[in-house]
Amino acid sequence: MAGMITRPTVAIVVLGESAMPTARRIQARYAGSLVHGLASRVAADVAYDDFGAYLCTLYAAHTPIVALCSAGIVIRALAPCLTDKQAEPPVLAVAQDGSAVVPLVGGMSGVNVLAREIAAALDVQPAITTSGELRFGTCLLAPPEGYALADIERGKRFVSDLLAGETTRIEGHAPWLDDADLPRNADARLAVRVTPHIDAREDDLVIHPRCVVAWVHDIGGAVAERVRDALREHRLSPLALAALVAPMHAMKSEAFTSAAQALNVPLRFSDAMPSQDISITVADKPIDILTIGRARGALTVIGLGSGNAESMTPASKAALAAAEDVLGYETYLRMAGPYRAGQRVHMTDNREELQRARHAFELASAGRNVVVVSSGDPGVFAMAAAVLEALDEGRATHPEWNAVKLTILPGVSASLATAARAGAPLGHDFCVLSLSDNLKPWDMIEKRIMHACEADLVMAFYNPLSKARPSQFDRAMNLVRQHRDAATPVVLGRDVGRPGETMRIVTLSELHGGLVDMRTMVIVGSSRTRAFGDWVYTPRWY
Ligand code: SAH
Repeated sequence: MAGMITRPTVAIVVLGESAMPTARRIQARYAGSLVHGLASRVAADVAYDDFGAYLCTLYAAHTPIVALCSAGIVIRALAPCLTDKQAEPPVLAVAQDGSAVVPLVGGMSGVNVLAREIAAALDVQPAITTSGELRFGTCLLAPPEGYALADIERGKRFVSDLLAGETTRIEGHAPWLDDADLPRNADARLAVRVTPHIDAREDDLVIHPRCVVAWVHDIGGAVAERVRDALREHRLSPLALAALVAPMHAMKSEAFTSAAQALNVPLRFSDAMPSQDISITVADKPIDILTIGRARGALTVIGLGSGNAESMTPASKAALAAAEDVLGYETYLRMAGPYRAGQRVHMTDNREELQRARHAFELASAGRNVVVVSSGDPGVFAMAAAVLEALDEGRATHPEWNAVKLTILPGVSASLATAARAGAPLGHDFCVLSLSDNLKPWDMIEKRIMHACEADLVMAFYNPLSKARPSQFDRAMNLVRQHRDAATPVVLGRDVGRPGETMRIVTLSELHGGLVDMRTMVIVGSSRTRAFGDWVYTPRWY
């Protein structure tokens, strides 16, 4: 089992040219890994701008990090993210000249294994500080994929007993301990016991192989409780459970989804189920769940926020990190990276929205976890509507799309990001309008602008201008000028939240097409909107 799981490739992060030789030596040890370099100082495989923010993004995506700089810089950069000890990726600091390898965090995800490998590649001793590991050459409390430690407190006691001079037997199959330097003794009082069964012997180190599968038909409700009862009947630990399997037709059943969550195991679907309501099967080694039935596919539509990593919501980041397939317009997909090894990135032209949406459903209905990326908010002039249109149109021809778990996550739209930079121009009633007449006739755009002017709404214009229609923006603004005072404040935000962002405040009389392009957001104030200094706001009272 352990051999089947490929460790995600490491991200090797450098701050300058001087670290490159060492970085390349480490890279040679990990096939597929990339060197990430500070854009202003070094040309590496991937460029980044802000070291701290970049490290946090890698960390959030569970990417193993090898940073070629001082341990202090890395710790300071990651400090805000170091909360959940269970979920952290391995992080190491390596001296630029390759003379020191320091594992920092990720004890449970194999940081010391990486430290030993890298140190061997650089021909130095790793700075391992974990005492049990120093003595035994392995972390007994971090079994490999496919195995779970029964009880961390008991485990710690076991390791201190060994450190204090006790010896141990190994019961069951623990191949990863074959090369460990354990004080073995066939008659020892203590034992490392590898078993799916509940074990009450207080002093032993119990490790459960995830080799149990619960097959459950539609039983109405209380699925998790019934599975727990069945496991108890067989004296099996819930930690040995590898998967919950339900019949294909139950893919949309909330009962199974929440049961799998409660049991903390993946949910799979199969039509080859045993006939009883519930059956429990036990294999003789950890189970690769990908070999059992299939997952319910998921399609999540996310927005990047206005551009930088900080304006992307944590929910969207998590969806992106978990995705197997990522689809979107090339420019946005480049902004959304870096990607994990194994993530499939499908870049397309911006105009192929419906085609992209259908492709996303095809992948998701085959059981994959798919994310579609928009800029800003996915529901504002973006992919969410295209995805729903594809689903609606495909109802008759592609009924399987309907079983996909579809989620649309909100994001920070360009109008909101621009407004926040300027102050609060959207502080009172406002509307958003797209000036693009690709998808709607121009006279409708004019009609809507007129009504918005009459209603004295603040107007946020998306897609203000393109090369294909250079004069339309001026036409639209001439219309606005018929209704609004020449001194009305106008906010122009270009590439907000992205490198090269510019903000400008002008009056309606000064506004013309030469000041905007397709990367600009235009907010035209109402009769109440005020400007002072660098700020623009619309008061909340009338
Ligand atoms: N879904 C996006 C909008 C897509 S329409 C959102 O919610 O923001 C594309 C238009 O959005 C562009 O023509 C521009 O007017 C605006 N826009 C998108 N990102 C922007 C940014 N970072 N700065 C300024 N305007 C932006």
